[in-house]
Amino acid sequence: MSIFEKIVAGEIPCHKVYEDERVLAFLDVNPISEGHTLVIPKEAAETLDALSDESAAAIGRALPRICRAVMRATGASAYNVLQNNGSAAHQVVMHVHFHIIPRFQDRGLGIGWEARSLDAETGAALAEGMRKAMGNGQ
Ligand code: AMP
Repeated sequence: MSIFEKIVAGEIPCHKVYEDERVLAFLDVNPISEGHTLVIPKEAAETLDALSDESAAAIGRALPRICRAVMRATGASAYNVLQNNGSAAHQVVMHVHFHIIPRFQDRGLGIGWEARSLDAETGAALAEGMRKAMGNGQ
C-alpha cells in the first residue's frame, strides 16, 4: 500500500485542500514553494497511463479548480503542474499525482529543457505510430 493510499484511507494525516468521491488534494509535505499541492485520484493507479477514464475525468474537472484556489490563497500569479511517471522520470511515490507548484520570484520549479528541432520525417513517423497506438481512441 503506497503512502498516498494510506492518506486516502485516513491512516496518515494530511493538510487537505479538496476532496470529492474520486479525487483528493493536499499540501506536499516537502514543498518546493509555498502552496505546493498534490492532487491525486483515490484509485490506486501507479502511473497516469494506467488510470481509469472515470478517475481521469474527475481529475480533469478538479485540477483547474484547485489551481485557482492555490493561486488565490498564495497570491502567486504563475505556477507549474508537474506529473512524474516511473522512477526514471523522478516518480518516488507510486500512486498517480499532480504537483501544483506556485512560482514566486525566488521559489518554484527549476526546469531543465534541452530542446532540439524535430525533422519532418521523424515527426511524421512518430505521429503515425502514435495514431496507430491510439487505435479506436483508447
Ligand atoms: P514524486 O517525485 O512526483 O513521486 O513526488 C512525490 C511527492 O510526494 C514529493 O514531493 C513528496 O514531498 C510528497 N510526499 C511524500 N509523502 C508525503 C506525505 N505523507 N504527505 C504529503 N506529501 C508527501
